[in-house]
Amino acid sequence: MFDYLIVGAGLAGCTLAERLASQRGARVLLVEKRSHIAGNAYDGYDDSGVLVHRYGAHLFHTNDREVFQYLSWFTDWHHYLHRVLTWVDGQLLPLPINLDTLNQLYGLSLTAETMEAFLASRREPREARNSEDVIVSQLGRELFEKFFDRYTRKQWGMAASELEPEVCARVPIRFNRDGRYFADTYQGMPKQGFTRMVERMIDHPGIKLMLNTDFAEIKEVIPYRRLIFTGPIDEYFRYALGRLPYRSLRFEFERIQREQFQPACVVNYPNEFDFTRIIEIKHATGQQCPVTTIVREYPMAHGEPYYPVPARKNRELYEKYAEEAAKLSDVFFVGRLGQYRYLNMDQVVREALNLFERL
Ligand code: FAD
Ligand code: UDP
Repeated sequence: MFDYLIVGAGLAGCTLAERLASQRGARVLLVEKRSHIAGNAYDGYDDSGVLVHRYGAHLFHTNDREVFQYLSWFTDWHHYLHRVLTWVDGQLLPLPINLDTLNQLYGLSLTAETMEAFLASRREPREARNSEDVIVSQLGRELFEKFFDRYTRKQWGMAASELEPEVCARVPIRFNRDGRYFADTYQGMPKQGFTRMVERMIDHPGIKLMLNTDFAEIKEVIPYRRLIFTGPIDEYFRYALGRLPYRSLRFEFERIQREQFQPACVVNYPNEFDFTRIIEIKHATGQQCPVTTIVREYPMAHGEPYYPVPARKNRELYEKYAEEAAKLSDVFFVGRLGQYRYLNMDQVVREALNLFERL
């Protein structure tokens, strides 16, 4: 008899497995349908010896000191400040939009004060009820169209006006020359990768791991007291209230026979091509080797569920599932899919630590 059956060996499942086994002496069975641990943060070496992220670039950043300290028990960090460039009007410009972006785009020499006046004449003040409002109210329509409109349509298959404000609000606007993508206090990459970090987390005699196993295959045959589910919450309830939409991606890997392909880890292509961005992860890992691997991300409506879609009707449907979940005394849902929230890795670890305290 296991004390806990945990479904999903991503960061949510592995944080809970680690805490329950090491702090409560619990016997934990961790079940993962893929052939590997670490969920979407999984990384590994490809045929060229490049450490690649199989499910899109994962950059760690947080202001949550406790989460950073917790993960630091299992890894050292490679110092890295993430930078993103975006291809607009035939130029590679820094993103988030800052003083340099506008000066380069329009051939101006704005300062922090004149940038404020420049944007004041363009922005359309309004309540930020959706992702289009968020950008248009800060930057005006032209910049929204150049940087956000088509990227968002590609990424989500819908207009920014149909998405909750939090989506485009992830990308700040800066009145200085700070070119970092994230402003968080703690930023970096696990020195030997995310998979190695997660491996160390679950290296405990109280945790048994079963890979290549779907929850559905074992739920009737393995006895357990409590269940922690980090897969899609609607899947758990067999879609009884309807399907929650998820956005998927196709990753196209390409080996390049030179040391570097592009000047930053991520280059966004809002207006051209079917892909949204090209990732060259070597910039982030700091790996030195004579070849490189790039990945193009093509958003898709079907496939692996990577992103919950933050739109009002989806949140309302999720809330109905959450009501059903609350009626179950020994089943708990956590993580990006379990909570149907657009959570970053640090937020997922935080949610898992909070659930651990409640258990
Ligand atoms: P997951 O990592 O999805 O893990 C859930 C696991 O459950 C999966 O391995 C799945 O196979 C398994 N599972 C599901 N159903 C079942 C079942 N029925 N039976 C058995 N196993 C099951 N966050 C950042 O902080 N920084 C970034 O730069 C960043 N970049 C991202 C880029 C992309 C393209 C994506 C998609 C996400 C990114 N994230 C990033 C978010 C990050 O991936 C998540 O916050 C985090 O990995 C979620 O962890 P999780 O454990 O909740 O879910
Ligand atoms: N976005 C955009 N243009 C960009 C970058 C982002 O329109 O060049 C919008 C888009 O809707 C995207 C959201 O902002 O989904 C959040 O961007 P982020 O880079 O955080 O996306 P993630 O890395 O989570 O896919």
